[in-house]
Amino acid sequence: MASLSLKNINKVYPNGYHAVKDFNMEIEDKEFIIFVGPSGCGKSTTLRMIAGLEDISSGELKIDDKVVNDVEPKDRDIAMVFQNYALYPHMNVFDNMAFGLKIRKVPKDEIKKLVTEAARILDIEHLLDRKPKALSGGQRQRVAMGRAIVRNPKVFLMDEPLSNLDAKLRVQMRIEISKLHQRLGSTIIYVTHDQTEAMTLGSRIVVMKDGIIQQIDSPQELHEKP
Ligand code: ADP
Ligand code: ADP
Repeated sequence: MASLSLKNINKVYPNGYHAVKDFNMEIEDKEFIIFVGPSGCGKSTTLRMIAGLEDISSGELKIDDKVVNDVEPKDRDIAMVFQNYALYPHMNVFDNMAFGLKIRKVPKDEIKKLVTEAARILDIEHLLDRKPKALSGGQRQRVAMGRAIVRNPKVFLMDEPLSNLDAKLRVQMRIEISKLHQRLGSTIIYVTHDQTEAMTLGSRIVVMKDGIIQQIDSPQELHEKP
């Protein structure tokens, strides 16, 4: 269960750049929210503020009715998947997936169980001993997802997770992400440039421009617009 409330969220970077302006949105439990908009419009910044990786300059962010502005990233029930996967090159797949659990002091046998289960769901059980450099792009992408789902987060943030994959894999992974969403029941916020991903995955699509929300529509509503 996770609803999010973003009230008048602003981000002004230390150099004075106003990257996100009065972002207002209520997100319901289990929604699949898509962020679209031109490069530099503030999508990643918004995601990073939700994850706690970037300070919120002003405004209020709530997860399940609790204000989390000052809550550390690791204490937010959130996992994030990045476009470049951000895997640790010196760790094998198991340790990459286990990392977030280790820093939260999850017991060893529990970690083993959770990692094995996530690896099974993503069909990467046979890759657990490998280092990232011994993996294909699609396999790395699965590991990055695996690292996020082992924690069974209430909120899943994905920043163009498929954009480095070839067209065929993108279609396959899109279907898997949709299945994962149903299976995990998490609330997802997903940044993409791909219109098919936006229209097929999203419950609502947020269009941003210059740090400002232009519109929020369901795929159906967008489809019907001229
Ligand atoms: P998007 O994800 O939509 O491409 P970003 O959220 O990454 O956009 O960036 C929004 C704007 O903020 C861009 O103009 C970017 O150059 C700027 N920006 C991002 N990070 C910083 C930073 N650390 N300092 C100053 N400006 C930044
Ligand atoms: P290091 O990464 O420290 O050089 P490794 O033993 O992890 O040492 O990697 C040596 C090479 O073997 C790497 O280039 C990698 O591509 C390959 N490799 C590592 N683990 C596996 C594995 N489980 N299956 C296949 N190839 C692997």
